[in-house]
Amino acid sequence: MRMRCTKLIINLADLRHNFFEIKKTVGEKIKVCASVKADAYGHGAVNCAKELESCGIDFLAVATVDEGVELRKNGIKVPILVLSLCCPEEVRVAVKNNLTPLVFDEEYIDLFEQAAALENAEEFSVHLAVDSGMGRIGCMPERSGILALYISEKPHLVLGGICTHFACADSLEQTDVDYTLQQLEKFNLACMSVEKAGINPGIKHCSSSAAALNLPSANFDMIRAGLILYGYYPSQITENYLASTGRKVELKKVMTFQTEVVAVRPFKKGQSVSYGHTWTASEDTLIAVLPVGYADGLRRSFSPGIKVCINGKLYPVCGRICMDQCMVNIGKDNADVKRWDTAVIFGTCPQGTAMTADDLAALDSTISYEIMTGISKRVPRIYL
Ligand SMILES: *Cc1c(COP(=O)(O)O)cnc(C)c1O
Repeated sequence: MRMRCTKLIINLADLRHNFFEIKKTVGEKIKVCASVKADAYGHGAVNCAKELESCGIDFLAVATVDEGVELRKNGIKVPILVLSLCCPEEVRVAVKNNLTPLVFDEEYIDLFEQAAALENAEEFSVHLAVDSGMGRIGCMPERSGILALYISEKPHLVLGGICTHFACADSLEQTDVDYTLQQLEKFNLACMSVEKAGINPGIKHCSSSAAALNLPSANFDMIRAGLILYGYYPSQITENYLASTGRKVELKKVMTFQTEVVAVRPFKKGQSVSYGHTWTASEDTLIAVLPVGYADGLRRSFSPGIKVCINGKLYPVCGRICMDQCMVNIGKDNADVKRWDTAVIFGTCPQGTAMTADDLAALDSTISYEIMTGISKRVPRIYL
């Protein structure tokens, strides 16, 4: 096993809790597809997928064929959606591993038909992606009937589902809500035109975490949940909105990023810390050294601003965060902070309240997704 005092603690019981909490919120009848792309948002795709499979997850979703293959190699049996497009060389691998692609034009459908024929796949399932306004992948809604027909005429393919993706479901601004409702309407039209062509569209799905919470009318047959499974709300707005409606979705944060104090050093007033000597002690103090830096995902832009939780108390990182280390100002009156004490960067701190991935995201004008997926491979994942 890899050893390092800087690690991510992944609480799989919390992941399980969130899954059932979400299931309760959307209702038993709605299928759940768990997004485990980008190594399950940094949590480790194989372990999370296994846990979710044991909870009875209906589908998993990855971004790349490689990610899907990793899950299959580790014995994952549930259907796996591939949310991003792959290049021609990956198509055959996708078919061989029974990964379910999103398709939306004739050329791409042809590629999967050829690969399915070569692999002797019968009824290889593809989902039709509709661009209702996200402007990323998908067919124009009015082409969905034609494409569904095109798929149905392919001897080795079957239309397993139809889907779209919302661009601003995490916002409750009226213009954004209107936009989402327009997308919903276009998606409904797309589904109808498939049905009018006499084809069963299969599983209809469009909501990611945000819409699953904000717009229950868009759940259709399945939601695609990522972030909420890991215990975060897509935005503060969603969290506040839910609180205001009294619908309680109690999420637990699955990930804790922590390290240990590897040295505590006395500093004299006037001594400075780290590259560019941007921070200078204004009085005599103690400086703790942590073996974690931007190569681990602790971005330089977090300092100044970030505070780590040691023995239940928050202490500011001072000076620039280095590639592999950073320094924390303990002050002169906190002699309880000792070498080998745990320092929580974000997540669960036993005796106190640590920062969250949302807090860190705010320091760098980004979102929790980017913080969690940005924790590098160098950081071992430990599963509880
Ligand atoms: C990543 C992704 C999701 C999951 O999004 P969350 O906001 O994490 O719930 C759903 N659908 C698509 C198409 C995605 O790319």
